[in-house]
Amino acid sequence: MDFSWSDEQLALRDEAQRFAAQHLGRDLVHRDQSGSDNLETWREDWRKCAEFGIFGLSIPEEYGGRGRDILTSILILEAIGYGCRDNGLTLVANGQIWAVQEPIFSFGTDDQKRRYLPGLCDGSIIGAVSMTEHGAGSNAAGIKTTAEPIDGGYVLNGAKAYVGLGPSCDVALVFASTAPDRGSWGISAFLVDAETSGFIRRPPQQKMGLRTTPMGEFIFENCGIPKEARLGREGAGLAIFQHIMEWERSFILASHVGSMRRQLDDCVGFARSRIVFDQPIDQFQSVSNRLANMKLRLETAQLLLYKAAWLKAQGQSCPVEAALANLHMSEAFVESSLDAIRIHGGKGYLSETGIERDLRDAIGGVIYSGTSDIQRQIIAQLLKS
Ligand SMILES: Cc1cc2nc3c(=O)[nH]c(=O)nc-3n(C[C@H](O)[C@H](O)[C@H](O)COP(=O)(O)OP(=O)(O)OC[C@H]3O[C@@H](n4cnc5c(N)ncnc54)[C@H](O)[C@@H]3O)c2cc1C
Repeated sequence: MDFSWSDEQLALRDEAQRFAAQHLGRDLVHRDQSGSDNLETWREDWRKCAEFGIFGLSIPEEYGGRGRDILTSILILEAIGYGCRDNGLTLVANGQIWAVQEPIFSFGTDDQKRRYLPGLCDGSIIGAVSMTEHGAGSNAAGIKTTAEPIDGGYVLNGAKAYVGLGPSCDVALVFASTAPDRGSWGISAFLVDAETSGFIRRPPQQKMGLRTTPMGEFIFENCGIPKEARLGREGAGLAIFQHIMEWERSFILASHVGSMRRQLDDCVGFARSRIVFDQPIDQFQSVSNRLANMKLRLETAQLLLYKAAWLKAQGQSCPVEAALANLHMSEAFVESSLDAIRIHGGKGYLSETGIERDLRDAIGGVIYSGTSDIQRQIIAQLLKS
């Protein structure tokens, strides 16, 4: 593995970092505080991201993308997270890229790719992915939403929960059972257009962090879709979901690793300039130990992220590396956000400084893409097999 970056890659990283710092995340404290009451403003930043080419990074040019390799794409997404302080925006952007676009590219028919990918890349279509139900989260194979086969298509019935971008999406990748008696082998995947009759996108729900972008529930009431809406084979849904999880676990936190890098730079700067007992606080060992721990977490998060990207670039499957990367990146961001608050003292606790927001945003990461418990279980199971 060689993670030395070329001059071109570093120039792209710097350009992305500058773009994100200058153009994304305005009025963030206010938008974070108003949460789901003020959720239309993120769309302007979404459009800017699309114009910059964020959504098309690793999608081939013939489907509207930039055709970049995975490692370069990851480096750019990390830089976006460094420059943009809106973790809600960068999370859902990564979610669309890795959990919606990637499976359409990998499993879609040519018609499906041409219908959705150019619009997802240019920002005119917003995509969501929906597996979780109130009764089935960690146990995803236990979903109860059904897609009853009928002549020429399917009829969806059921309810989905915690869908990132759900309230605002134009298309949703939905998992439902076409053959409930076959259990996990009966699950299939569908691309459902938001305007389809019987597809209800519930309003955004208030949440602890990531408050600048919407999350909500779906209801399907006799929602008829054509057979062309199915992604992949009938019954292949769980395999497609596992494929998505490997990509999502590996890369959904790429931009949050950039946030950790920015957080550390901010803390180093603050610790150098904050004078207490007549000296900069970075002279106190307990403060410098925190900075050292933050640096260690950042470096290991980057290495695990780049290793997963390198393996994917080789065309290799990497379930253990994906779970390790997700587990470490998510827990490291929580720990380092706590350290950042401690280093800043009372200032770190004030909402107006934005320092406490990182902690609230980070906590979602130990739940989505599989909780930390589930990541540990996957790692341990694969060690034993
Ligand atoms: C910010 C955020 C964004 C999300 N985005 C999406 C999305 O876009 N699309 C989507 O489909 N879903 C999404 N989700 C849902 C997410 O994937 C689920 O919340 C997650 O998988 C956990 O499921 P659950 O909430 O049902 O918890 P449960 O599965 O009920 O788990 C509850 C607790 O039990 C533990 N537990 C459960 N099973 C085991 C086990 N076998 N071993 C050890 N411990 C276990 C869990 O670790 C957890 O601590 C999102 C969630 C969040 C918070």
